[in-house]
Amino acid sequence: MTRIVVLGAGESGVGAAVLAVKQGFEVFVSDMSSIKPKYRDELIRRGIQFEEGKHTEELILSAKEVVKSPGIPNDAPIIVKCREKGIGIISEIEFAGRYSTSKMICITGSNGKTTTTSLIYHIFKMAGKDVGLAGNIGNSLALQVAEDPHEYYVIELSSFQLDNMYDFKADIAILMNITPDHLDRYGQEMQNYVDAKMRVVRNQTQDDAFVFWNDDPIIQRELKKYGITAKLYPFAEAKAAGLASYVEDGKVWFNTPVSFNMEQESLALTGKHNLYNSMAAGISAGIAGIHKETIREALQTFKGVEHRLERVARVGGVDYINDSKATNVNSCWYALQSMPVKCVLILGGKDKGNDYNEIADLVREKCCGLVYLGLHNEKLHGFFDSFGIPVADVQSMKDAVDAAAGMASEGQIVLLSPCCASFDLFMSYEDRGDQFKACVRAL
Ligand code: ADP
Repeated sequence: MTRIVVLGAGESGVGAAVLAVKQGFEVFVSDMSSIKPKYRDELIRRGIQFEEGKHTEELILSAKEVVKSPGIPNDAPIIVKCREKGIGIISEIEFAGRYSTSKMICITGSNGKTTTTSLIYHIFKMAGKDVGLAGNIGNSLALQVAEDPHEYYVIELSSFQLDNMYDFKADIAILMNITPDHLDRYGQEMQNYVDAKMRVVRNQTQDDAFVFWNDDPIIQRELKKYGITAKLYPFAEAKAAGLASYVEDGKVWFNTPVSFNMEQESLALTGKHNLYNSMAAGISAGIAGIHKETIREALQTFKGVEHRLERVARVGGVDYINDSKATNVNSCWYALQSMPVKCVLILGGKDKGNDYNEIADLVREKCCGLVYLGLHNEKLHGFFDSFGIPVADVQSMKDAVDAAAGMASEGQIVLLSPCCASFDLFMSYEDRGDQFKACVRAL
């Protein structure tokens, strides 16, 4: 029996293990940390061999192929050893793709992946399509392929997943943007990260579609390098020749493959970034043959995704907005850009090498207060204090919300859009957003 080893027993790893068993492989799962009870129980229930808290080399290096969780870096010692032994290392999506003939709609980019993926899923659901949500959200693709197959999959792909994809092909590939992120995992080399993102078009043929933001300078540069044969569907805000979608006279126009327009104001999601997300989703739905009436209605009724510019409450005439998922500077730029009135910005956390110059002008224009929320706020003080905007320095969410509430006046906004990862004070960005919402509701 051919042996497959799965490294990492989270959603994707356990899904891959289930599919591998179904396909008749000998399967072993290994996780360096402790496995979440939900996944441990699942492995036990299914009689799948596993270990946790260690990687036993004899059990791993005997594999024909390793399915690696996206959380494990490519330079982790066990991965290096596998590579030295010539063992193939693939992602769960690559593995699952081998056993499915369904249509794959794959979304990547530095920002906007989850929103666009959820939006496309929402449109497909409204259209009555048999669709599964996979990748970074929903159930793992492998588990669905094994036990709950669908005609379409809408898959959110991170660069880490794309890194270990080789033969997989997206029927519709969507690339939202490319800005610096995760450079710690790419040897501080931006091009390595760019190359990972561009893998979304790998293996595409002229029967496939590539949807992308036309104004992204990096995508434009890369397009020239790749001989892309897929049909191109560029979108941008300003009308230009060849665009599949753009804005004119307050209307969002969709040209190909279905032609229709809708009032920009009627889009459920606001802000320039969400205009792009809506365009990408609308075009993709059109490519899949969904009627314009359904696309229009779905883009108008989508409820948004938690922790992404999520309106929490109005307290004392101040609106509180949770954008905890803004874990890099570029996403905060879009959040600030969409603010219709002055706001108090709560930012800070684990800095991934941030360059705050990108938001300097917007902070000057839109912010009436800054609350630094982090264990180490020196860099924020150094960059923003000279702007002359009132600042506060806090180490807990309660203090952050109290300080922000004290700074904001009626009619203004308090925006949590931290530019940073959450791990200095919180378990995750979800935990940070949940604490923010709880503190706001307790005001
Ligand atoms: P991802 O899954 O790529 O992290 P999300 O949809 O979760 O993206 O959004 C993360 C943050 O990025 C949001 O809080 C929002 O402020 C910002 N954002 C969303 N869409 C875009 C976009 N198309 N371009 C730039 N920033 C965006």
